[in-house]
Amino acid sequence: MESEDVLTRFRRMGALLDGHFRLSSGLHSPSYLQCALVLQHPEEAESLGRALAECLASLASGHLDPTAVLSPALGGLIIGHEVARALGVRAIFAERAEGTLTLRRGFDLAVRDRVVVVEDVLTTGLSTRETMSVARATGATVVAACAIINRSGSQSPVDVPFAALTAINPPTYQPDACPLCALGVPVVKPGSRRTESGRG
Ligand code: ZN
Repeated sequence: MESEDVLTRFRRMGALLDGHFRLSSGLHSPSYLQCALVLQHPEEAESLGRALAECLASLASGHLDPTAVLSPALGGLIIGHEVARALGVRAIFAERAEGTLTLRRGFDLAVRDRVVVVEDVLTTGLSTRETMSVARATGATVVAACAIINRSGSQSPVDVPFAALTAINPPTYQPDACPLCALGVPVVKPGSRRTESGRG
């Protein structure tokens, strides 16, 4: 799967929007990404998972020998499941309990496990690194990490081999320094489908 194909799919499904957005961080950006709008289609999720599994295979010349996929909830769940399907291993997830990412529901990893950490989007890498720590705390080995989209600006954002299907680096602005605000373009809070000058 080519990098441009991925972005074309995302745009077609409204998962990558151009405009003027207020991100959850409070920063403004001309670009907004919502992977769930692509992953809601099982055939798309499966296809992205297969493509990521192929990238992972080429990362280590086929010597990853993974035994499990671990994803952070919620964003990594669906793509983690599909990468695991393509790799032929189980898919488990870590979730927050009192602020700390942890394995629950009887999920476990053993020292012999070789873990691939899978995310939908890698932004700062913080969530992927936290998920890697969860795996390592069990004694398992993290052999690779991957994300559908890398928006970190770095090709190797974590300390294991890393794969992504595509990379984007949209600019972000402090609200008081936003050129779109300066032009008077209404700012949209993604997911709300209305401008901030509207209700609430
Ligand atoms: Zn703005």
